[in-house]
Order: sequence, then structure tokens, then C-alpha cells
Amino acid sequence: MDFLPIFLNIKDKRCLVAGGGEVARRKAGVLLGAGARVRVVAPQINAALAELPRVESIVARFEAQHLEGVTLVIAATNDRAVNRQVSESARARNIPVNVVDDPELCSFILPAILDRSPLMVAFSSGGASPVLTRMLRGKLETMIPQGYSRLAAFAERFRELVKQRVANPAKRRIFWENMLDGAVAEKVLVGDEGSAETMLQQMLENEDNIQRGEVYLVGAGPGDPDLLTFRALRLMQKADVVVYDNLVSAPIVEMARRDAQRIFVGKKRADHTMRQEEINELLVRLAREGKRVLRLKGGDPFIFGRGGEEIETLAAQGIPFQVVPGITAASGVASYAGIPLTHRDHAQSCMFVTGHLKDGTMNLDWDALARPKQTVVVYMGLHGLDILCAELIKHGMPDSTLIAIVQQGTTQNQRVITGTLATLPGIAEREQPQAPTLIIVGGVVTLREKLAWFHPQKS
Ligand code: SAH
Repeated sequence: MDFLPIFLNIKDKRCLVAGGGEVARRKAGVLLGAGARVRVVAPQINAALAELPRVESIVARFEAQHLEGVTLVIAATNDRAVNRQVSESARARNIPVNVVDDPELCSFILPAILDRSPLMVAFSSGGASPVLTRMLRGKLETMIPQGYSRLAAFAERFRELVKQRVANPAKRRIFWENMLDGAVAEKVLVGDEGSAETMLQQMLENEDNIQRGEVYLVGAGPGDPDLLTFRALRLMQKADVVVYDNLVSAPIVEMARRDAQRIFVGKKRADHTMRQEEINELLVRLAREGKRVLRLKGGDPFIFGRGGEEIETLAAQGIPFQVVPGITAASGVASYAGIPLTHRDHAQSCMFVTGHLKDGTMNLDWDALARPKQTVVVYMGLHGLDILCAELIKHGMPDSTLIAIVQQGTTQNQRVITGTLATLPGIAEREQPQAPTLIIVGGVVTLREKLAWFHPQKS
């Protein structure tokens, strides 16, 4: 860290701006915005600057005596010699000084700011790249609505009261997080502070009204962290506990709040670390402890994810929850492998099925799957690949139909193995693809040669 970021109170303090042009006017404006009184010194001072309220103009060359009673200095003349003189005089008196566009002469730098007063965000690259700093600021500008000004002021108004009523600091943090992220905040953001205040008072009347634990059932997508939704990310950063299994890639688990507890409930085929019922109970118990529980699931929670069962238990126990959809393996993997799931020439429909074996057989509606002009996507199908290919052929699909196995799609380990219904079982035997794998059957697989764009490093 090359600089210490601080927020300085300059209310009613005298600050000096050396320079009388446009740049000086902008800097004076920033100082005035923070409540300072501004003394401007320059042989010529443009009218727009001189006429600003709370500005004292001294039409003269800068001299050290102008620093009398001054708390902060900004040099904004277009003469480097003058700027240097201002800088040296200020530093000799231990007055913080900034020289516009001249880091060497500065004892402090002015950050780019995002002003949602009383909420303030300051950005700096320590002079390394002001453009990058401004770009970042622009990005955050769109993410932090103007209404946050009101919200921060509202929170400030009730800070003391909440502190008195909710003595426990951990509970208080949860109170504020719920308040700033929930229905009360929505009211403030739309300008209905009256209702917001009533709701807040109700929450404070009874500690039990302070939000109990809740569960977020979140789809984490097929592997690439870039495929998370904004909502998933927001909840990941809010959760106290993360419950995840081996379908969720490590980089995604890492993106959860740093100090969140992480609980692995991994399930491998035939090697169940934790039974589904135990997971359901775990979620209930954690929520009852008042925690915000993030149940992270690979892909989409409602597609072969048993997400329905998990929230059924929560609903039965009266625990609040929300479900966040994710990109399911079929769509993530298909895109990254260059295999559109539907296509005018090849497939007008697409079926998602699970090839999970029950008693060594696959219970599927083979007639429906073997129809022409259709794509079939098989989840959890690798172990039944032989049966799958044989049954499809038996039910009328040409044995030359293309079929692909995609290993660990959308990740750096993605690998695509293609063949026909006749040849793929033998190829897979040799190639030994690693879980998780997804199987895609149908004419759309031919498009891959033209459309593949994702070429992972380690294939
Ligand atoms: N809810 C998940 C599916 C869970 S079932 C979803 O919507 O994607 C688990 C199966 O999903 C795996 O056996 C595999 O067939 C498939 N799968 C999940 N992620 C995958 C990935 N990155 N690459 C290939 N297949 C994947």
C-alpha cells in the first residue's frame, strides 16, 4: 500500500487553491462540496471561479504568506515552477498538498470519487493509471443506485436506536444486513421513508422479528465461475455457511464470503458421503441457528439436482428460503462444446434425461428418445453408455447417429469425445473420460466442427 486512504473532515476549514483557471475551479468545487472555505490565489482568476460562494479571491502571485491558517492545499496552475513553489512552501509547514497531474510534488493524492453521501467510495491507483481508476468508478456507478444516498442517511438516523434495542453485535449485524437488503430498504429506495420507518420500528419491537436464519438454494452453473448469476454472487457474499458438493467447482466455492463456514456434503455415485435426508436436516438445523445458509448446487437446482426435495423440507419446517436458477450443464456444456441443442436442420426438440442406473438397467421411454430431429441430453449417463447406445439403435435410431461425451464442460479440463452410436462405447472405454460427463445425442453434434470456440489450455 503506497498511500493511506482516509476521509478528511474539512468542514469550515480554510483550503487554498493556487491557480485561477478551469482546473482550479473544478478542484475548488470539490473542496466546497466537502464544506470547506476556499482561498484562491492567482494573478488572474476566471469569473466562474471567483463567483463561487465561500470563495475568497486573492489576485496575486502565490506567496508563502497565503498559507496562513490553511488546512489543505491544491496547486492547479499551469506553471510547474509555481506549483513546485506552492508544494515546497506547504510541505515546509506540514500542510498536506496536492499538485494536479504531478505526483512527485504531492503529499496526498485525490481519488476518483463516487458520491452517494453520506456513502462515499474513493478509487485510486496511486497515480499508476487514472484511466483505469475512472473506468472502475464508472462500473460501480451503475451498480450503486442513487437511492443509496437516502438509504445510508436513513440507516444513520436509526443507528443509535438499533444499538440500544439490539445489544448483541452479531444479531445487530444480521439486523442491518436484512434491513439494508430487504423490504425496508426497498421502501427507502422508492422514497417511502414513512412506511420504511414503521416497518423498522416493528422489527425492533420484538427480537423474534429480527430475521431468523434462511436458506438460499443457489445454482452455481456447470463450472466456469463466469457463468454465475449476479444474484448467486450477491447471496454467496452474504451467506454465513456454504453447503456444497463435488459438482461445484473449487473456484466458485472460493468466491463465497471469506469468513463463511464451508461444509462439504459431497456425493459420489455409489459413495454417498451424506445421505439426502441428512443434507435436508443439516440445512434446517443451520437455519434454526439463525444462519444464512447457502446451499450451492452444480448447474440448476431444479434440474436433476434434488433441489425440490431440499426446499420441501424447509417449507414444511417454516424456514424462509429462496431459489436461484443456474445455467444447467446441458446449456453450459453445449455452448462451450459448440453443439447447439436445437437447430433448424437437425433438431426441433431437445430432451433432458437422467441415465442413472437403477438395478443395472436404465428405465427410459426409449421410443420417445429415439425420435428423429431431436437432441437427447443425458445427465449421469456414462456408466450406462453401452445400454443407452444399444437401446437407441434397437428403437430405431440409425447406428450412424452422432453422439458426444463432454467431460467437465466449461472448465479448463473440458474434453469432447465424439463417435456414433455404434462406435462411441468402444472409444469411451479407451479414452476414460473423467466425471462429470454429459452425453449429447443427435445431428447437432455434427455442428461442433464448425462452431467449437472454447479450447481449454489443458486438454
Ligand atoms: N443440477 C445439475 C445436474 C446435477 S446431476 C445441472 O443442472 O447441471 C449431475 C450430472 O450433471 C453429472 O453426472 C453430469 O452428467 C452433469 N454435469 C454437471 N456439470 C457438468 C459439467 N461441467 N460437465 C459435464 N457434465 C456435467
